[in-house]
Amino acid sequence: MATQIAADDDECPFCQIANSQSDTEILMSDEELLCFRDVKPGAGHHYLVITRSHIGNCKALREQHIPTVERMAEMGRCVLEKNKVRDLTDIRLGFHVPPFSSVAHLHLHALALASKMNESSQRRYGPGSHWFITVDQVLAQLRTRGRIK
Ligand SMILES: [Zn+2]
Ligand SMILES: [Zn+2]
Repeated sequence: MATQIAADDDECPFCQIANSQSDTEILMSDEELLCFRDVKPGAGHHYLVITRSHIGNCKALREQHIPTVERMAEMGRCVLEKNKVRDLTDIRLGFHVPPFSSVAHLHLHALALASKMNESSQRRYGPGSHWFITVDQVLAQLRTRGRIK
C-alpha cells in the first residue's frame, strides 16, 4: 500500500544527521551531500555518503539522479583518499539492495581495503554479494534503463 517511505525528520536517523540533530561527526559535506563513519565498520575504512534530501533507497533512483550518484561516488573516493587509503582500486563503493538496507535513506557505502574484509563483510559488501550493488552497476543501469533492476 505504502508508495512512499515517510521522510519524517523524527523517524529517519539519516535525515536527523543531515539536519544536525545528531552528534555524528561529519567528515565532509557540501550543499547536497554529507559523509560520516559507518557505526558498524565492515572494513578498516568504512564511510557513508548520504543525500541531504530524503531518497528512499537505490530502487528509487532514476536517470535524473545520475549526477547525484556520480557526486556521491566522488565524495566516497575523496574521503578514502583523505584517510590515506592509497590503493583506490581495492575499495568497494555501492549501495545495499532492499530489503537489505538497514536505514531507508539512500546511503553510499565506501569501504577499504576490500581484499582485507572478513567473510561476513564479504557477504554484505563483497563482489559475490547479491545484496550489494556497486556504483558502476547503478550508473550503467540508470544510463541504459533509467532505473535499477
Ligand atoms: Zn531520511
Ligand atoms: Zn547499507
